[in-house]
Amino acid sequence: MPLDIVPSVCPHDCPSACALDVERVDGCRLGRLRGAAAPAYTLGVVCAKVARYAERQHHPERLSQPLRRVGEKGAGFHAFRAISWDDALDEVAEALTQATQRHGSETVWPYYYAGTMGLVQRDGINRLRHAMRYSRQDLTICNALSDAGWCAGVGAKRGVDGREIAKSDLIVVWGGNPVSTQVNVMTHIAAARRERGAKLVVVDPYRTATAERADLHLAPLPGTDGALACAVMHVLFQEGYADRAYMARYTDDPDGFEAHLKTRDPAWAAAITGLSEDEIVGFARLYGSTKRSYIRVGYGFSRSRNGSAQLFAVSCLPAVTGAWAHEGGGALYSNLGLVEIDHTLIEGLDRLDPSVRMLDQSRIGPVLIGDPRDLGNGPPVTALFVQNTNPMVVAPDSRLVHLGFARSDLFVCVHEQFMTETASMADIVLPATTFLEHDDIYLGGAHTYLQLGRAVLPPHAECRSNHDVINGLAERLGAHHPGFAMSAVELIARTLQLSGLPGVEKFPEGGRLDCWPPFETGHFLDGFPQPDRKFHFRADWRAIGPEYARLPAFPDHVAVIDDGDPERPFRLVAAPSRSFLNTSFNNTPSSIAREGRPTALVHPAVLGELRLADGDRVRLGNRQGSLVVHARGFAGMQKRVVIVEGLWPNHAFEEGIGINLLTSADPGLPRGGAVFHDTSVWLHPA
Ligand code: SF4
Repeated sequence: MPLDIVPSVCPHDCPSACALDVERVDGCRLGRLRGAAAPAYTLGVVCAKVARYAERQHHPERLSQPLRRVGEKGAGFHAFRAISWDDALDEVAEALTQATQRHGSETVWPYYYAGTMGLVQRDGINRLRHAMRYSRQDLTICNALSDAGWCAGVGAKRGVDGREIAKSDLIVVWGGNPVSTQVNVMTHIAAARRERGAKLVVVDPYRTATAERADLHLAPLPGTDGALACAVMHVLFQEGYADRAYMARYTDDPDGFEAHLKTRDPAWAAAITGLSEDEIVGFARLYGSTKRSYIRVGYGFSRSRNGSAQLFAVSCLPAVTGAWAHEGGGALYSNLGLVEIDHTLIEGLDRLDPSVRMLDQSRIGPVLIGDPRDLGNGPPVTALFVQNTNPMVVAPDSRLVHLGFARSDLFVCVHEQFMTETASMADIVLPATTFLEHDDIYLGGAHTYLQLGRAVLPPHAECRSNHDVINGLAERLGAHHPGFAMSAVELIARTLQLSGLPGVEKFPEGGRLDCWPPFETGHFLDGFPQPDRKFHFRADWRAIGPEYARLPAFPDHVAVIDDGDPERPFRLVAAPSRSFLNTSFNNTPSSIAREGRPTALVHPAVLGELRLADGDRVRLGNRQGSLVVHARGFAGMQKRVVIVEGLWPNHAFEEGIGINLLTSADPGLPRGGAVFHDTSVWLHPA
């Protein structure tokens, strides 16, 4: 049986964008999948769910043909009949045309996200959008809050190379759980501990698998990380750990900031965070006394109404100690802004008309039920074309999302790899290729490589790539743009050329270009990417989003969170599980077996007060609704905190609707963003 090893790139919605070695059997089947050894970030390691990718690639329920719905919405496979690709694309084009004729082009909403992170297969939908003047999409669901917070201080979406973690003496993982969601970070932490005796601190509201491995775990209440960061910086100034020479040279207003922090002392933060003053001071001294300190900033604590302010506060820490100046020091949130890619050709930006309305992807529920805050004087959305996402499960305020998809006057086409719960609400379902079956190019938030991923397997059955489907629709709709006539490889080649980057044939290491700049630039020693070249302790929120007036200029605890009341005393965090990635792996047998069932981690003292035991059913609820899960006693968090890891499909819950029933579609400050971990609930025996 012939077997060869070919290079690829993990396309999933994860910062690691791992370089892969793919075992190909008989030229058409996936064998094992491993991390490629050569790139100095992946270092041969991938997460378990992707190592088992054959389970997903050759899953018996992969979609294989275009389908037309002939039965009830939401009923699954048996409500569909197979049709030809020509018929399917003709019907979709006809439906989009009719909707446009009735309501104008903004009634059509091409809806997408990051089911693949490849630039061609993910973002090509925007070329069709702009060419047809369909509604624009504000990409808020993951990083609107975190981008705003990071860029407020640093000025651009880049930080210190993740490989430098191995050269740190103290690693702080703040608001992330890399053991479960970004395994490569742990590789570099392990090296620092082994070779330098480095310490690991984890800041997370519950004792995650990463926190279990830490030397110190701080578990503040969700939504209070900003207060913790301020109190730590208060101690840094107070006890002489602040690097005043660094701040004088590289920051905007250290004196004003120090004066502001005077009242943000550990006692103040202890009352807000639920931590002890000793914990806060102990961490501050450890951080302040370690120059090679590296903060790996996660997304978790940004998913809150005050998430931008929280992340901004944490990003200020290395500017106070001057850790940025040291090898193995500084911080990283994401390096997706490291390489300037010209997106014009892929996304049709030369056809973008800024007067076309923009809809907030996180508010798809309110949008679909016609909320005037979203639609204004514009038409209702009467046609959706969906790629790379599963909003029936992943979007907040699921009840509204489900009501919206159930509308009889809404046409829906979903291009997918599986019959997701969103696909089962569609009128037309189109089968999609996986990353192993199409060409693309990938950036990685956690590392510094630009990577080419070629098709290494033939498409499953009749599956077509996102790029091919967009081009097929463009032809039928009469959309014009040079990108519609190009192959994915041609688009990549021309985009690299427009970006001033070498062609893929010049990429070393089998298609991987390391874009890490010289040390001075990577560590901002030649200035931060702000207009005045300084790190900003004083954020210019006005330049970032329309709700700027509700955020203070200096880092602070911003008390706009859903902090509960006597009726809803618990703070719910809907955290990512180890074996699912959003909903991408929640249908593979090994992932389901490992995760078990939807489960609430509840403090044992709370279980005791409610006379409940492990495994008992509890009902969690708030004004948006309620749902039943099984409880498990877990002492690694404050008593007010409840954790439900996921994302489980809706059908895994007793009443057919999942955890996002409880999360809010309120936009975070100052420019939107989903607030998945900012939810207060009540908890009763079911
Ligand atoms: S760690 Fe992330 S990028 Fe790497 S294989 Fe797993 S999902 Fe893909």
